Amino acid sequence: MSTDSNTKISGPFQEFPQVSDWDAIIIGGGPNGMICAAYLAKAGMKVCLVERRWEVGGGLSTEEILFPCYYSNVHIIYHMMVDYMPALKDFNLDKHAISWIKPNSQTAMVFEDGNSILLSNMTADTKDSMSKFSWKDANTFAKLTRKWKKITDEIVAPATYVPAVSAIDLSVALEKTEIGHEMLEMTEKTPYEIITENFENDKIRALLLYVSCMWGIDPNESGLGFYVALQLYRGVNKCYCYGSSHKLAGAFERVIVENGGLVIEAAAASKIIIEKGKAVGIELAEGRTLKGKVIISSLDPHTTFLDLVGEKNLPGTLGESVKQWIYDKWSFHTLHVASMEPPVYKKLDKAGKPVKGYDPWVNDAFMVVFGVESTDQLLAHWKNVMSGKIDDKNFCGHATCETRLDPHLTRWPGRHVSFFQMHAPYKIEGGWAKRESQVNQAILEKWEKVAPGFTKNNNILKMNGETPEDIEARFPNMRYGSIKHGDYRPTQMNTFRPNLDCSGHKTPIPGLYICGASSFPGGTMLGGPGYLAANRVAEDMGIKKWWKPTAEMEKFLKTYFEK
Ligand SMILES: Cc1cc2nc3c(=O)[nH]c(=O)nc-3n(C[C@H](O)[C@H](O)[C@H](O)COP(=O)(O)OP(=O)(O)OC[C@H]3O[C@@H](n4cnc5c(N)ncnc54)[C@H](O)[C@@H]3O)c2cc1C
Repeated sequence: MSTDSNTKISGPFQEFPQVSDWDAIIIGGGPNGMICAAYLAKAGMKVCLVERRWEVGGGLSTEEILFPCYYSNVHIIYHMMVDYMPALKDFNLDKHAISWIKPNSQTAMVFEDGNSILLSNMTADTKDSMSKFSWKDANTFAKLTRKWKKITDEIVAPATYVPAVSAIDLSVALEKTEIGHEMLEMTEKTPYEIITENFENDKIRALLLYVSCMWGIDPNESGLGFYVALQLYRGVNKCYCYGSSHKLAGAFERVIVENGGLVIEAAAASKIIIEKGKAVGIELAEGRTLKGKVIISSLDPHTTFLDLVGEKNLPGTLGESVKQWIYDKWSFHTLHVASMEPPVYKKLDKAGKPVKGYDPWVNDAFMVVFGVESTDQLLAHWKNVMSGKIDDKNFCGHATCETRLDPHLTRWPGRHVSFFQMHAPYKIEGGWAKRESQVNQAILEKWEKVAPGFTKNNNILKMNGETPEDIEARFPNMRYGSIKHGDYRPTQMNTFRPNLDCSGHKTPIPGLYICGASSFPGGTMLGGPGYLAANRVAEDMGIKKWWKPTAEMEKFLKTYFEK
């Protein structure tokens, strides 16, 4: 074989090495994994984040779930903690073109007769809407909103971003202030008690109970009553990430890379390597080995400890604690729809005029709840769901027309994407394969009743359902369709999340940390687990933190925990 002596051979293309060394390896590129990786990369650690799917985002994914160029925010769309989350401030995400929309019309409940209640960002507007049903309730809502805001601003929000303390220590600390005492009183009550003791109108009760419990709080369980304050206050402060939720994922990814970190997509961790009782690296399903000083998993407890570490490597009672972990009490079933026209929640009377009680602002609402007409029907629906059933006549859920907020989501101006999402069991009587089309049909019937014409005259171009089984298929770490990687119940919160052994994001296995929704403070787009895990790793590794707690966090710690 002859070679041209003028050709410079620079050597073969170097593939990513079979074995590589890192300071920190983060498993899972959802919001928490990315936040954790971003803090540590900026602190100077050599960070590698591995993500099983072909793009990062986890719950922040935005996808063409219907057909090309119709984008849906398939999971996180309602961003409740934008006003508090340290990661949003610390990384100056405005530089990554992140901007938020906080609509004044936040959550509406519409009824079959065309009447509606609207919870607005501006309390005066909520009062106007509620007073159609009860003047007394409208005033109570305005009064209680001030209390719920104080509880959230001064206690719940800052406590989300400082390490967990035991329920007993927290109770003692909260007694130091009047608002702390009031929060404790609420905590001891069930959501149902709080709502029914304070509000008289059944329709108002149904809406407030829905908003209080929608992220997985049992309406009849005591011990988590403060969630009513949190959800009803944040429920009128939800934000939409303009341009889609995936844009936020992209911004976090860029921060990691800008700071020297590596993000590998389509790279599933198949094993956490344990040597002499210590976590020293991971294996990827495609065969490569990444060695690390610390391994930080954002996955659910069963995947992290039983599947990746392996039961035989779990010290003490860790294996037992992991097996006792309870996944979410309900999942979501979502029907995504592309349409020519958006849903219009408007009923006309015989004379062709909007019915009495019609509120045009409902059509601007970020979230529209419908399907039940009373508290009893709502409770019956949740009871069904928790026992593995959906009654096709009696169920409810919330809908959002995404393109009303963000026309970018379709390439064709004027066309729309919307979804209806409802609480649903992972294991449904009859099986999802058989039940899905019946449930979807029942959803369309309910939608048509409150938004006449939406499902008629070829308005709907395409539909796609995402059952709890589909959620698990997309994210195996959302086991059993668990949107928070594990249930919210008093025995799985604070220092119990995910268990006493792993409280504080450090596990009993040296070198292994956790940073996902199954760790404190929990799931949804809080950004708390990722932030707290980064703090913990930095402290354990003796790494100087470049970030500071927010003024609200410092005030909270000073008020309640300074001796
Ligand atoms: C239908 C639905 C709607 C929701 N709506 C909202 C909402 O509007 N607002 C809100 O605040 N929350 C919402 N949530 C909840 C929210 O999505 C989650 O609680 C949140 O995403 C948890 O973040 P995380 O980073 O802890 O985990 P995840 O977002 O689950 O991320 C974990 C990541 O790990 C990856 N992974 C899994 N296995 C491996 C492996 N072996 N190796 C490498 N990577 C792996 C996954 O692909 C995923 O990207 C919703 C959830 C669902 C399912």
